[in-house]
Amino acid sequence: MPTFSSPLINWQREHGRNDLPWQGTDPYRVWLSEIMLQQTQVATVIPYYLRFVASFPDIEALANASEEEVLAHWSGLGYYARGRNLHRAARMIMELHGGQFPQQYEQILSLPGIGRSTAAAICALGFHEKRAILDGNVKRVLARYCGIVGHHSTKQVDEELWRQAELLLPDNDVAVYTQALMDMGAMLCTRCRPKCESCPVQEDCIAFQAGIVNELPTSKQRKIVPERSAIFLLAMSDGKILLEKRKSSGIWGGLWCLPQFDEEDDVQNWCALHGIEPDKLIRHPSELGESADSIAQCKALVSFAHIFTHFKLHITPLLLYLAHKPLHQAEHVWLSVDQALQAAIPTPVRQLLSRLANV
Ligand code: SF4
Repeated sequence: MPTFSSPLINWQREHGRNDLPWQGTDPYRVWLSEIMLQQTQVATVIPYYLRFVASFPDIEALANASEEEVLAHWSGLGYYARGRNLHRAARMIMELHGGQFPQQYEQILSLPGIGRSTAAAICALGFHEKRAILDGNVKRVLARYCGIVGHHSTKQVDEELWRQAELLLPDNDVAVYTQALMDMGAMLCTRCRPKCESCPVQEDCIAFQAGIVNELPTSKQRKIVPERSAIFLLAMSDGKILLEKRKSSGIWGGLWCLPQFDEEDDVQNWCALHGIEPDKLIRHPSELGESADSIAQCKALVSFAHIFTHFKLHITPLLLYLAHKPLHQAEHVWLSVDQALQAAIPTPVRQLLSRLANV
C-alpha cells in the first residue's frame, strides 16, 4: 500500500476541506478557483470567487464581459495579470472550443495564465486524471517529506520535486489526493510551526525523522527589497476625482489609478501641460487652512507604503483642487469617490479613496 498517498487520502476525507464552494462543481469553476488561489489564501479567495461567479456564471458570460468589468471584480485580489489572462482565456475557449472548457491537458496548458501545475490541478480535480501538481505549498510538503535540500528555483531541485510529485501519485482517488496535498500544505505542513504531531505521514517524513523540519524547504538568500517613492495626485473638481487608466501591461495594467509621478516637479510640469493652475496644490493637512471642513481630506494626505513582491513603494498623496475638469481623453475619467471605489482600482488607490470617503 502506498505509504504516502493512502494515509493522505484517508486524512483528507476525515479532516480536509470538503465544503469549499468550487468543490463538486464544473471545470469552469475549478479553473477560476485555481487561478484565484495562485498566490492567495482560500479565506481571501472565497468572497471574491462568490461575487465573480454571481456576475459571470459561465465561460460565455465571462467572455462577453469587458476587461474593465472583470478587473473590477478582481480589484483588491492583486496580481491582476491573472484576471486579464482569465478573461483572454474565456474568449479563446469560446472561439476554439465552442464555450466548453477543454478536457485535454495540452489544450488546458495552452490557455493564457495556466502553467504546468495549474493545468494538472484542473485535470485532477475536474476530470479525475492522474496528474502531478506542484504549487508553492506542495513544494514545501515534498521538500520536507522527501528531504530535498536546496532552493526550488534551482533547476536540479525543481526537477527532483517534480520527479517525486510524479512518483508519489496514486492510481486511484487522484482528485481526493490532489485536494489532500493542498490541504496538507495549508493546514498541517505549514511554513511556520507545522503540526507534525497530527500528520498522517510523519513516520516516513525524512525532515521529521531527521529533526530538520524547520530547515526545509531551504530558504533563498534574502535579497534587500528595493524601495521606491511616488506621488499620487488626488485631482478633485466639483466633488469628482480624476482617475487615469494604466496601459494594459505592467503593474496594475488595465486598472484605473490616480495620476502618478516620481517627483513634485513632474506634477508641476503635468499641470503646465494641461493648462492647470497648480496654486491649489496641497501637500500637507496644515495647508488645508481653516476653511477645510473635511477631516477625510486631512487623512488622505498622510503618506503610506505599499509592499509589492519585488519592491516597496512609498506613496505621498497630493491634493489638487480644480475649478474646471480638464482631460477628457478615453484614458481619463471623473468619478465621485463612491463611484471610483466601485471601479477596477488597485489596493493603494482604494486605501486612499476610502480615506476620502470615510468622513
Ligand atoms: Fe510536514 Fe511534519 Fe508531516 Fe513532515 S511530518 S510532512 S514536516 S507536517
